[in-house]
Amino acid sequence: MARRKKVYEGKAKILYEGPEPGTLVQYFKDDATAFNAEKRATIEGKGVLNNRLSEFFMTGLNAIGVPTHFIRRINMREQLIRAVEIIPLEVVVRNVAAGSISKRLGIEEGTPLPRPIVEFYFKNDELGDPLVAEEHILAFGWAAQQDLDDMVSLALRVNDFLSGLFLGVGIRLVDFKIEIGRIWDGDYMRLIVADEISPDSCRLWDIETGKKLDKDVFRRDLGNLADAYTEVARRLGVMPQGPTGVTKPTLIN
Ligand code: UDP
Repeated sequence: MARRKKVYEGKAKILYEGPEPGTLVQYFKDDATAFNAEKRATIEGKGVLNNRLSEFFMTGLNAIGVPTHFIRRINMREQLIRAVEIIPLEVVVRNVAAGSISKRLGIEEGTPLPRPIVEFYFKNDELGDPLVAEEHILAFGWAAQQDLDDMVSLALRVNDFLSGLFLGVGIRLVDFKIEIGRIWDGDYMRLIVADEISPDSCRLWDIETGKKLDKDVFRRDLGNLADAYTEVARRLGVMPQGPTGVTKPTLIN
């Protein structure tokens, strides 16, 4: 097969030119990074799990009318997506205090928030993705007021959908990050959910035990990350055979 043209390479994914105009192929790597890429590792099977999990969440969102970039999965590590113009903001939704909000505002991790909070961070690795207010976004032209309203409503719909899905399998959705892109249908512009939705970009705690099932396992050295993601996938009924496709040997008595 002819070598595809690489359009972009990030920390966890690579984008290639797609087969038709307006499409891209998104490849999920096994690389994990944290603390603005100061901590790095390769975690075998992570890319396969995130490809399948992101497919699962985005397919569900598409089905309930929340538009996403996802078209179809191509293979174990790749999916076909719509090309979008990414808005340079990370949109974080929080249901329970953890991570940076706990540090910034001195709220103990695990404290339920009085209502979901939507925050925006400016996507800029050199600056460490700083928290920004709507004022900054409007003044610097990163998005218009209408875009901001649409982003908040998209983010809250994603939150309701994911919270319910996870609750059904005994997992609390503490917080998550999404990225949003613009697409044009002729002169008409609309916003759709892009990038990925996976345990790399969510905080997921077991409701019974509080056990962490997300990237904090890697950030805070709490155990094997691939095992945590496999557990999330298994509970959701995604890849019950695990990322290698081989079931572990079981002892027959
Ligand atoms: N997050 C992410 N990418 C980032 C920053 C945050 O996916 O570059 C996710 C993170 O996994 C968590 C949520 O956004 O689910 C909120 O992260 P927080 O602001 O607490 O930052 P952190 O403590 O992860 O640095």
